[in-house]
Amino acid sequence: MKTIKDIKIEDVQNLFDSIIFLRGEEYFEEGCIRSIEPINSVTINGIVSGNQNYNVSVSIDAEGDIICDCSCPCDFNCKHSAALLLKWLSIKDKYNKKCDVLPAINGWASYVDTNLSKDACMTA
Ligand SMILES: [Zn+2]
Repeated sequence: MKTIKDIKIEDVQNLFDSIIFLRGEEYFEEGCIRSIEPINSVTINGIVSGNQNYNVSVSIDAEGDIICDCSCPCDFNCKHSAALLLKWLSIKDKYNKKCDVLPAINGWASYVDTNLSKDACMTA
């Protein structure tokens, strides 16, 4: 794994305790991801709401491992990070199919669901 484009569902499942993964899935399905923003080819930032809004950053290190960082009190890979990764998996193909956005993605505004359309992708 070299970039966020290469992240697969199996990688996410392996990264989290199964209970945490399931909670992350719930967060994802309930629409708790307030924003998601690919910063560059190895970093995704986002805001996930739980008891409050948490800043989540997921990046891929030089070894190809996924590193999660969340502003919540958990000191392990938390459900917020899982939810953000699941959200990314659900939208990354839209990016990839219509345009190779990742090299040029710096400076993109934060995306929320309503902004995710193929047209937006084409004209970006
Ligand atoms: Zn968290």
